Amino acid sequence: MKVTVFGVGYVGLVQAAALAEVGHHVVCVDIDSDKIERLRQGQIPIYEPGLSALVIDNHAAGRLEFTDQPEYGVCHGDIQFIAVGTPPDENGAADVTHVLTVARTIGSFIDRDLVVVNKSTVPVGTADAVRAEIDQALSERKRDLVFTVVSNPEFLKEGSAVADCMKPDRIIIGTDSKYAEELMRELYAPFNRNREKIMIMDVRSAELTKYAANCMLATKISFMNEIANLAEHLGANVEAVRLGIGSDPRIGYHFIYPGVGYGGSCFPKDVKALINTAHQVGFEPEVLKAVEVRNTRQKTTLFEKIVSHYGDNLQGKTFALWGLAFKPNTDDMREAPSRVLIEALWRAGARVQAYDPEAMEEAQRLYGQRDDFRLCGTKESALQGADALVVVTEWQAFRAPDFALLQRELADNVIFDGRNVYDPERLKARRFNYYSVGRGAVL
Ligand code: NAD
Repeated sequence: MKVTVFGVGYVGLVQAAALAEVGHHVVCVDIDSDKIERLRQGQIPIYEPGLSALVIDNHAAGRLEFTDQPEYGVCHGDIQFIAVGTPPDENGAADVTHVLTVARTIGSFIDRDLVVVNKSTVPVGTADAVRAEIDQALSERKRDLVFTVVSNPEFLKEGSAVADCMKPDRIIIGTDSKYAEELMRELYAPFNRNREKIMIMDVRSAELTKYAANCMLATKISFMNEIANLAEHLGANVEAVRLGIGSDPRIGYHFIYPGVGYGGSCFPKDVKALINTAHQVGFEPEVLKAVEVRNTRQKTTLFEKIVSHYGDNLQGKTFALWGLAFKPNTDDMREAPSRVLIEALWRAGARVQAYDPEAMEEAQRLYGQRDDFRLCGTKESALQGADALVVVTEWQAFRAPDFALLQRELADNVIFDGRNVYDPERLKARRFNYYSVGRGAVL
């Protein structure tokens, strides 16, 4: 089938590559000409396991094209995906400007009946706005064409985006058009083989499903962080509590790890956006507001532990920091807890020596050259001359460090662990001062 995807970010590029991999002919359009040129040369602008080979192979096979010419894209696809960013505006609402710009572009060049699919995460009602924008552009051109706007939210996870797209848990299709439904079923048939994954619903419910999913996951994290903080006060061990509650199948083990708060491009913005949507219809979203407050506070928890150990003047102290990305297996530092910590350490006068397996370029881009910041080529070199180690992201590579080396390198023998990666008893035996999250009973 002929497909066009607007936006070659995490969602658009991965989805386009997955569709090309099963045989569809996909044209990707982006306004970022630089990105398009790099993709044509086989340079992948983001890190996602398995993505590079998928893009390069399908591009070479002619099934995956890249262009900055929107007209070429609109004229290609019978299905036009919108997968552009929807960042928060100053009130926390999702800014749908890019989505509506693409809608207008489609309306400006559309030359036959087609289906427009919104894959961006957008507030309930945006499909109507997309339809209105295309209608407006068509009427300016005095053209009368039939098109349908479908909501098809994306559920991929950064870090396993390719696997998630190739083997989705569910494919939500919001439409009231039988024709669009059939077309979408045909498009996704290669991904819907082992069991029925396609769920058809009305457009508004599909739009809300995406927010509800992310907000539920954010709620689990904030709830568990609340229990962790309480455990510290009560002298209980949240890791034991986690195992204890996760064994109940109604709760499950997923997404109940305590830590330093959620980050990334989705949870923070989607929780804020749903709060904003609720306010617009005069509804008070009390649970969502609490989720957001807990998360904002949780991002300062490591810094508070550092201050309670050292006092609030950190002048002359150097911290080795392991993990910059907001979670493992990505280079994404949007709303990352590491940023809140690094900036707090700087304000208190400390120096930071950081290492991350993938997010070094991004950190360089964000912070540039500074006297109080050094990006180190390995996790070991980040330790040299440091007083303490802070673990912010639970990359596999940090799980079993050489503790003897840590003892030799860290002047103060202190570890602040924001992800409960290490065993407190072992670290105590090695005479480390070890701080983790919610393990009151064992420290
Ligand atoms: P992104 O910022 O990585 O990429 C967006 C791309 O859209 C950029 O390359 C940008 O240049 C391009 N763009 C902007 N305006 C354009 C236009 N008029 N025409 C063509 N291209 C244009 O964004 P993302 O992370 O891929 O997210 C896209 C959407 O999907 C968002 O709504 C997001 O909430 C949602 N989403 C993201 C994830 C995720 O994990 N990143 C998961 C599910 C859903």
